[in-house]
Amino acid sequence: MRAPDATDVAWSQPALPALPDDFQTVEGVWLRVHHAPGDRAVALLLARHGARSVPDFAERLSVPAGGPIDVVLAHTQQQFDSLQPGAPPDWADGTAWPRQGLIFLRSPGIRPGTEEPLTTVLDHEIVHVLLGRVFRGEPVPRWLQEGIAQVYARQYTQATTDTLASGLLGRDLMRMEDLATGFPSDPLRARLAYAQSADLVAWLQNEYGPDTVPSIARALARGEGFGAAVRSATGESVDAIDAAWRARLTGSGLWLKPLVSDTVLFTIGAMVLVVGGVGVMRRRRRTLARHGTGAPPVPIGPWNHPTADRDGYLEPPAHPTPLVH
Ligand SMILES: [Zn+2]
Repeated sequence: MRAPDATDVAWSQPALPALPDDFQTVEGVWLRVHHAPGDRAVALLLARHGARSVPDFAERLSVPAGGPIDVVLAHTQQQFDSLQPGAPPDWADGTAWPRQGLIFLRSPGIRPGTEEPLTTVLDHEIVHVLLGRVFRGEPVPRWLQEGIAQVYARQYTQATTDTLASGLLGRDLMRMEDLATGFPSDPLRARLAYAQSADLVAWLQNEYGPDTVPSIARALARGEGFGAAVRSATGESVDAIDAAWRARLTGSGLWLKPLVSDTVLFTIGAMVLVVGGVGVMRRRRRTLARHGTGAPPVPIGPWNHPTADRDGYLEPPAHPTPLVH
């Protein structure tokens, strides 16, 4: 990890909002966790966790960690909404504001039914701030931000493979070049883009070594083009990488997963009925009998908030809240 220098932080604008009078702070070298008195134990846990994560992630990215990151642990939804530089949508589970070095989390008392540990969300947001610092306020490509954040925060989970599987089945997988140009606005496609970003980062890391993606990030931050950055980190063209990455997914048999899984059943709808072997179809018919065939697809999102690319990163909940039941 390099030591930070003046130019590394010149673009940043630390701006801790005025916090409620009763808020306290756990001071650390890398993080300052601001919290309501009742959230003291959670704040201490987050501070201890972050004290390991910040230097670890900075080391893995080969970038300076920069100054301390302010983490605001909101005790109420009203605090979460009003203390931030911009109002988040009510589905956001956490936010990062790299330019201001700010992270907002919700205390466990106001997180609805999510199983994802708060330390995981914190790790994800720390990556956003550190990468934002690498790019010094310039927009960080979304696939890179969300891909690295999910992999470093260990969020490549069953839900990721379910989403990839549904994309495979629908022959909907995005190409690497598509991902590089931004995330789609359609919520289901955006969800696939999140999953594919995590998969791409994990695959590049496994195939070409742990510094491959950080090396692409540093090259892009220096102003290199996408193709040149990928070639200097891997020795391959974007097209060759894209073909190898997607061939491994399509050859994995993962596309069969939705046929036997309840998780994505409703998102793929009637298309499944024309695919698959007899045994698989029998299992699916039994599942449909349990759930009913007329259920409409459950809309998820919106994950692409208009402010997300501009100056902050908004996290969808680990288990996305449907807009309509
Ligand atoms: Zn994110």
